[in-house]
Amino acid sequence: MWRKGWIGSLVVGIVLIGILWVKSWVGQAGADEAQTFSPEQIPAAASYRADVRVDMKTHVVTGTLTVRFAPQDDKAYFHLYPNAFQAKADLSGENWEQVLGKQREPGNIQISEVRVDGQSVPVQLKGELDTLLQVPLIGKSAAHQTEVEMRFALQVPFNNGRLSYNDHAMWLGNWLPILSVKGEDGWRLDPYSAIGDPFYSDMANYHLRVQLADGYQLASSGIESIAVMTQTRPQRQTIYEMDAWNVRDFALVIMDDTYRQLTGKVGDVAVRTWSQEGDDPAAVDRLHQVAMHSLHYYGEQFGRYPYQEYDVVKTGGFFGGMEYPSIVFIQDDYFGRTDPVADAIVAHETAHQWFYGLVGNDEVREAWIDESLTDYATMAFLQSVDPNRARGYIQLRLRQSKTSAEYAAQGLHVWQPVAQFPTWKSYTDLVYGRGAAMWWTLRESWGTDQLHHLLRKYVHDNQYAQADGKEIIDLLSHAAGADATPFIDFWLKLKLEQADAAETWMQKGKHE
Ligand SMILES: [Zn+2]
Repeated sequence: MWRKGWIGSLVVGIVLIGILWVKSWVGQAGADEAQTFSPEQIPAAASYRADVRVDMKTHVVTGTLTVRFAPQDDKAYFHLYPNAFQAKADLSGENWEQVLGKQREPGNIQISEVRVDGQSVPVQLKGELDTLLQVPLIGKSAAHQTEVEMRFALQVPFNNGRLSYNDHAMWLGNWLPILSVKGEDGWRLDPYSAIGDPFYSDMANYHLRVQLADGYQLASSGIESIAVMTQTRPQRQTIYEMDAWNVRDFALVIMDDTYRQLTGKVGDVAVRTWSQEGDDPAAVDRLHQVAMHSLHYYGEQFGRYPYQEYDVVKTGGFFGGMEYPSIVFIQDDYFGRTDPVADAIVAHETAHQWFYGLVGNDEVREAWIDESLTDYATMAFLQSVDPNRARGYIQLRLRQSKTSAEYAAQGLHVWQPVAQFPTWKSYTDLVYGRGAAMWWTLRESWGTDQLHHLLRKYVHDNQYAQADGKEIIDLLSHAAGADATPFIDFWLKLKLEQADAAETWMQKGKHE
């Protein structure tokens, strides 16, 4: 996600320059170019098949889901995130209001007819708000794939969040039941939270069959350009069949015929930017250009974008932008005006395709991993396009980072679970501000080449998998030839007395 809490100061801080995309794009990856594998080449931990029917009038999505995976325990859990928005949920308070807005209608997901390898099992809902489905797998072995089937009925809530709708579109983020991750020390069953992107999932293959009334179109984490479309008569429905290989989630946006697409190519990747008639054409074109150029830049710097498509879609929402595999949601405000903030939002969501998408992490306990790297990448991209124009953004993050002493005094730091941040501001200042400033400071000391070499290695070594904070310490320690703990302690644990030790470590690690 991208936090908009600071838009006011960013707009003030940026000097808008009229001509932007004149710079040529010079390859820098060089001899150590890290290859990312194609998603079809890698076996995925699970495969999901969903057959769904979308009713745009009632905002109900019904269907079946079949998931095949190797059991890791005598049970499995599926997150049922939409139940966080059911009528009985207490979503009061300032933090929820920032996410959901004031105007809301509840939603939920109902599960029925759960089967394990064809055998019916009871529907066991867990968690305070039934946001988990527990599926018994007694006697199942990790040596064999197990198949869990279920029926579901999703009433899409109406609010300002990641799963909602308006008169022209419905955007489905974190909507399908999704397997919980089992870590070395147990299941990750964290509930939805107001602050952060409280998600964590493994790579999976998806095959979706989506039935929609005529007059609608869709964009998704799957590959729409090779979707099989079937028209049904006389029901006047279109059925789309789509695949996605090795993605951590499957997001879907359904749009009416007011939506238009701009298309382009970055290498072999089809980039589509979805806007509506009546949007400012200059703003739309600009968002599309940022999507294409940033995808290209990150590909050179951090490793090839391995998926076939990338969709940038106008949705409602509170979030500025919200990342999903091969698709990002961009808040509608940015399609109505040429706004420098929009550059940063699209560049940020695009960078998440590497940090979150290709390399995952536990976004509940270690939100700093993907957000700090993503926002650092955003800064690097903006800087590469126009240093003068990037200055406002970079200064803003460095300023946010300097507020850390106040947070340290309250016992807060960067490397803590999302639920421990008391406010959106504290989360933004620490995870985005302090986190990104850490990488930026390292770049200023080591230089872009040395840092990006390291980040290419990070992406290469962890592609299609998960990374954690300990691995980042190891990576930094290895690169520097000295234990990076003081550096991490200073920046992320806010042990501010470690400032000198952090500086010494950076100096030691610098390649001359
Ligand atoms: Zn983000």
